Amino acid sequence: MLIEGCEIVATMDDGGTEIAGGSILVEDGRISWVGGGRPPGSTQDVERISGNGCVAVPGLVNTHHHLYQTMTRVRAQDRGLFDWLVELYPVWAGLNEEWVRAGARVGLAELALSGCSTSTDHHYVFPSRGGDLLAAEVDAAREIGLRFHPCRGSMDLGVSAGGLPPDEIVETTDDALARTEEAIERFHDPAPGSMLRVGVAPCSPFSVTERLMRESADLARRFGVRLHTHIAETLDEERHCLERFGRRPLEMLEEWGWLGSDVWLAHCVQLDEKDVRRIAETSTGAAWCPTSNLRLGSGIAPARALLDAGARVGLGVDGSASNDSGDLLAEARQAMLVSRVRDGAAALSAREALQVATRGGAACLGREDVGSLEVGKRADIALFPVDGLAFAGADVDPVAGLVFARPGRVRHLVVDGAAVVRDGHLANADETEIAREGHAVARRIAEGAGG
Ligand SMILES: [Zn+2]
Repeated sequence: MLIEGCEIVATMDDGGTEIAGGSILVEDGRISWVGGGRPPGSTQDVERISGNGCVAVPGLVNTHHHLYQTMTRVRAQDRGLFDWLVELYPVWAGLNEEWVRAGARVGLAELALSGCSTSTDHHYVFPSRGGDLLAAEVDAAREIGLRFHPCRGSMDLGVSAGGLPPDEIVETTDDALARTEEAIERFHDPAPGSMLRVGVAPCSPFSVTERLMRESADLARRFGVRLHTHIAETLDEERHCLERFGRRPLEMLEEWGWLGSDVWLAHCVQLDEKDVRRIAETSTGAAWCPTSNLRLGSGIAPARALLDAGARVGLGVDGSASNDSGDLLAEARQAMLVSRVRDGAAALSAREALQVATRGGAACLGREDVGSLEVGKRADIALFPVDGLAFAGADVDPVAGLVFARPGRVRHLVVDGAAVVRDGHLANADETEIAREGHAVARRIAEGAGG
């Protein structure tokens, strides 16, 4: 495949190379050449994609999501995290395969159309009669064509034992660990260029036991898979940790063996200076979810301080019950703007926001084979149109324009060398049918009939 004649190719390599009029040659799912002019050798028989009027960037990487929540958007509209969860848990108790499949198809389609080529998911609600929920979302990712890192989440601390979730949606510790091990054995592909990797992800300090946290870390390390959880999201959570464990959230995680280069943590909003330093020193990743943190009134993560300390920082849209949108380029814009409210107008540049959304996310997920447009990397490439109305007038710097101007739909998205979005439409699935299914399932949930 030859992607030719882009307005600009923004490679996001170490030097921040940007090539006006650049082209990209893809062979066997990998980038084999990037440059201006024509690639070496014959390109007579290759599939061609015009980059005319487009900025090419690495496919964006989404580091935190709960795809099932896509079916419960716009609920608990004016609540903070704990009250929001308490209102939503009983609804989520009705989760089943149909619900998860519809939510994953809608959520992943939205992400693809916003230029996202790799997404994680954090699924932690497994009602006893819910069915094969992880398989349902893995199928959806294969259908759309995205690189997928589903996390087998878990909760084992119900309300009767001092947790926040109702007892009927938590598992026993033994069941959670056994099902997580099964998920790794069934789905995880560690090979370079993998399209499917599984993570281990107990949910949050107020829904898990210390034993589940410690043994999940052991399990993940035995299999060489990554660890993920929610931490330092709100002050309520910090108070809960101080009361229950006598430690602040990050201190507690460290004590449980949960800081390290194989861990990435969602939110990291309520951090002090020492927490920031420990995250950086231990090469732990931070999945920054600015829109969700604003929506729930949680706060603004110290992303500038984390980046300055040398931490790995990626972006997450978070679940669609607390973002209500799954647009990852819009999240890069949100990240840039909200950083400026916290730390001043120079806090985060447009290019830094794009770096976080691409290379930063890849680093959180432990992927050295994606996140930049360089020879040898997998061919995950997003082509955003900059020739339309929203960019008329942004011609002086179309790369920055991607973040400053109104984010729009990607024109083409290539994942592992295959088209996932072509001319603004899903290449492998029917957007109209996915939306119709999503509306139908969401209506059944609203009527109280589960999925
Ligand atoms: Zn989350």
